[in-house]
Amino acid sequence: MTVTEHWFGEGIGTEYFALVTIGAGIGSGIVINDQLVAGAYGVAGEMGHISVDPAGPRCHCGTVGCVEAIASTKAILDSVRRDTGRSDLDFDGAVRLAREGDRAAWGAFARAGHAIGVGIANLVNLVGPERVVVTGEGLDTYDLLGVHITEAYAAHCFKAAARCPLVLRPLPWEVWARSAAVIGIQALFP
Ligand SMILES: [Zn+2]
Repeated sequence: MTVTEHWFGEGIGTEYFALVTIGAGIGSGIVINDQLVAGAYGVAGEMGHISVDPAGPRCHCGTVGCVEAIASTKAILDSVRRDTGRSDLDFDGAVRLAREGDRAAWGAFARAGHAIGVGIANLVNLVGPERVVVTGEGLDTYDLLGVHITEAYAAHCFKAAARCPLVLRPLPWEVWARSAAVIGIQALFP
């Protein structure tokens, strides 16, 4: 998806570019010097597993306080259930409660947005992209997350890194498939 956005979307013309997905999982793709960064061990761009709270919840990866452990769809739902005492809630119910102004539910989204913002700031401080595309089904709740993402992002960016804009792109699911085709095209025409 990062390659597709780099070739055809918001990344056109950029040498340093990143794409972040939020939702069920949280991750990123990074372009440096016009090339997608794959990493020596196939692990690069695991922004969801940047630890942003050493005292935070345990993550499925085995460590604690990862962005994903605080801000994935499941993490938010767990948090809302715990803080409201409503174990019957599904994610839509949690969203509804937060939009109605329930403080506990709203707070879970606020913490999630903050964690995402700090995570993106760490990525931007390391890589220095021209812009970051934020996408994924998590954008459906951007009304609850957005202000906390942008506040934490601005607060944690190092100096000029903060000039890098966050561009929201509600991309449809087909883009994942189209992106696989782009990788194929790249292999044929390097
Ligand atoms: Zn993790």
